[in-house]
Amino acid sequence: MSEKIYNVAIIGSGPAGLTAAIYAARANLNPVLISGIMEGGQLMITSEVENFPGFPEGIIGPELINKMKEQAKRFETEFISDDVISVDFKSYPKKININGRTILAKALIIATGATARWIGLESEKKLQGKGVSACATCDGFFFKGKEIVVVGGGDTAMEEATFLTKFASKVSLIHRRDQFRASKIMVKRAENNPKIEFILDTVVEDILDINQGKVTGVKLKNVKTGEIYEKTCQGVFMAIGHEPSTKIFKGHLKLDKDGYILLKDRTFTSINGVFAAGDVTDKVYRQGITAAGMGCMAAIDAERYLEAREDLLND
Ligand code: NAP
Repeated sequence: MSEKIYNVAIIGSGPAGLTAAIYAARANLNPVLISGIMEGGQLMITSEVENFPGFPEGIIGPELINKMKEQAKRFETEFISDDVISVDFKSYPKKININGRTILAKALIIATGATARWIGLESEKKLQGKGVSACATCDGFFFKGKEIVVVGGGDTAMEEATFLTKFASKVSLIHRRDQFRASKIMVKRAENNPKIEFILDTVVEDILDINQGKVTGVKLKNVKTGEIYEKTCQGVFMAIGHEPSTKIFKGHLKLDKDGYILLKDRTFTSINGVFAAGDVTDKVYRQGITAAGMGCMAAIDAERYLEAREDLLND
């Protein structure tokens, strides 16, 4: 019996992958979605989502993902909950190796996302969604009139600190050195903002208070003087970078210097028939709705690619 060849395989099960599945399935492409063992992406660790259109009262992140999944299943997307081990894009159909078996597909949509970098504190993990966040656009609104700490010294930290002053009464930017990785213009903008104070040469040793189940402050250490002290705040935003999930694509697709998938145009990667959508290729917007939008674009691009290929084969 010959092996099944899928029209479209989608790797990743966040809003980009699931939206790509809904569109590909409704185009009668019978897609397979390889969700990975950690299903659902970053929305699975988000509590209230208030900025996804269509949910005026807000929706819990995992519930939003489940709704997208149900919608993709309704149009007969096949789900495989395994991690991809390796890929081979040189052959046609393309090969995707998952635990012990190979999936063959004529077109592929990569939507493996990115994960925020965390310092690695236990309190940081336990207080996520309870005052600790890695996305100012998503959660800033919950901190009206509150004191916030932003950690990092890159463009994201400057951008998030500046954005958060729309809500917070005060933003303290904590950076482990006295030099910034951020561009000069972004640093200047933050420096000129009267609500932002810079605390340099300083690291966060702990976030308080696990026992109260909410953020009440941070324990800081000045790395030059060794001084340790506590600072009151109600929110902590980590802005120490993101890691795109692209390890398995290294050497197979063109990536940028930070490891994000480079697009030739729209959702087209450096390999014909391989498309990318969402945070795996986007370090600017990083929103559920932009990822979903790109997932839709990738499915339409894949559909048109397959149609054009069929035309060629029939010539
Ligand atoms: P980034 O440039 O990699 O900066 C990460 C920052 O976090 C650095 O200052 C780093 O400190 C600090 N950091 C890393 N690990 C840490 C740890 N464990 N503890 C404490 N601090 C830690 O990341 P990014 O700011 O997210 O920017 C990523 C890319 O997106 C960059 O190319 C950036 O230019 C771009 N971006 C552009 C814009 C814009 O143009 N509007 C906005 C956002 C992002 P060190 O400096 O000491 O290493």
